[in-house]
Amino acid sequence: MADKGELVLVTGGTGFIGVYCIFQCLAAGYRVRTTIRSLKRENDVKKMLEEGEATNIDRLSFAEADLSKDDGWKEAIEGCTYVLHVASPFPPAPPKHEDDLIIPAREGTLRVLRLARDAGVKRVVVTSSFAAIGYGHTKKIEVYDEKTWTNPDGPGPSAYIKSKAIAERAAWDFIEKEGGALELSTVLPVGVFGPVLGPDFSISIQIVQRLLNGSFPGAPNLSFGVVDVRDVADLHLRAMTDPKAKGERFLAVSPPAMTILEMSLALRERLGKAAKKAPTRILPNIVLRLIAVFDKAVSLVLPELGEIKVMSNDKATGVLGWQPRSNVDAIMATAESLIKYDLV
Ligand code: NDP
Repeated sequence: MADKGELVLVTGGTGFIGVYCIFQCLAAGYRVRTTIRSLKRENDVKKMLEEGEATNIDRLSFAEADLSKDDGWKEAIEGCTYVLHVASPFPPAPPKHEDDLIIPAREGTLRVLRLARDAGVKRVVVTSSFAAIGYGHTKKIEVYDEKTWTNPDGPGPSAYIKSKAIAERAAWDFIEKEGGALELSTVLPVGVFGPVLGPDFSISIQIVQRLLNGSFPGAPNLSFGVVDVRDVADLHLRAMTDPKAKGERFLAVSPPAMTILEMSLALRERLGKAAKKAPTRILPNIVLRLIAVFDKAVSLVLPELGEIKVMSNDKATGVLGWQPRSNVDAIMATAESLIKYDLV
């Protein structure tokens, strides 16, 4: 059990990963403060926590802060022992200009680090992403792990991918040059699945939603690393307190990567009638390209068509003793929760 006096700031408490981080910090006995863009959303966060049967909700407080403004951040960070910096722009479609994502992601991260250093925070854990590992490479990578860095100037990276790679790189540069006694570790999730706690969920969940509701006439020829949101939150807590996590990146994945067809067939096998619209065949690439003309969210994944990436979680499991549930269990938990909340 954590020292009851220790306060953890979780940025982005309205988000899918953010709310599970709050949940697990409260369960571990910490006091938690969370930033949200508007205090009007306080009850939305509490409702999600209640849906998940969170404990110690009375130990949670809220602060208003937006990544693109200075207001509120200093007060939010004051008095915290740890910061989990989870918030980052994660829109469903490409922005008008890539800087709309890159600037708040990078400057928001740097602001949190600067203020955390000045406030004497012990360690910040930044939620980075496989986006900061797996893209823009010109040579084949046999196994993607923490040693690999996305090349934002290479072929392919979208504005979101660039924003995550640039923000994480800026965080490590800051720690090296100006971090003082502040410690940093980063958690880099692949596609995050697991149970939603209501209608406000992350874009990654849309894949399962679309398979269940028959939006795809076939399974797009794509594959993803999969991880459950509960295991992502668990890895954040390990990265926050384990002395061995200081100065390290941790890829959060439950290998192997799954093709969308494998996800779809698993849904059918386990859910029966509830997954009757899930496709049983691959969607020809040409059809997906046509869908992408009208659907900007789909256009984001076109560079990945047909590619299967091999990813390793050896570092998180070996160094931190992290044990994620299986990829299929994560997908099923998403599907079951979408059905429970009538969100298909
Ligand atoms: P969500 O969209 O559910 O959460 C994003 C969070 O960031 C929300 O709380 C959102 O607030 C907040 N946010 C976005 N822009 C701003 C801003 N300008 N100022 C303040 N807060 C902001 O997605 P996830 O929970 O999945 O994402 C959380 C983190 O995990 C992000 O850093 C994302 O890049 C990373 N990640 C997610 C993966 C996934 O598959 N889901 C995979 C890898 C990494 P609001 O609710 O007000 O919009």
